[in-house]
Amino acid sequence: MEKNNFEDFKKSLMGLRKRIKGDYERTVESSSEEFGGDVPDANDEASRTMSRRILLEIGDKSHETIKLIDEALDRIETGNYGECEECGEDIPVKRLELLPYAKYCVECQERME
Ligand SMILES: [Zn+2]
Repeated sequence: MEKNNFEDFKKSLMGLRKRIKGDYERTVESSSEEFGGDVPDANDEASRTMSRRILLEIGDKSHETIKLIDEALDRIETGNYGECEECGEDIPVKRLELLPYAKYCVECQERME
């Protein structure tokens, strides 16, 4: 890929990272407001456990995506961005536009799933 395209992808990766982080923080915030009272009763405890579990799940997913985004940003820095980590072929720009943190081309991704 042309190196001068990197800047655009860098921008969209940074934007995406910020959005995922913001969404997660907002979810944590609204849930702690909702379950912030310290009057424990059985129902409340159950919903707290539920909400903690959902938060953990969202957290896992956000962290996973943020990790992929950070790795993509590293690849931009080292100049390897846009190459499939498996076969070394260029990942099509169309795919990167949809999924700027993609590590693999479609063929390798499908083979792995
Ligand atoms: Zn590949």
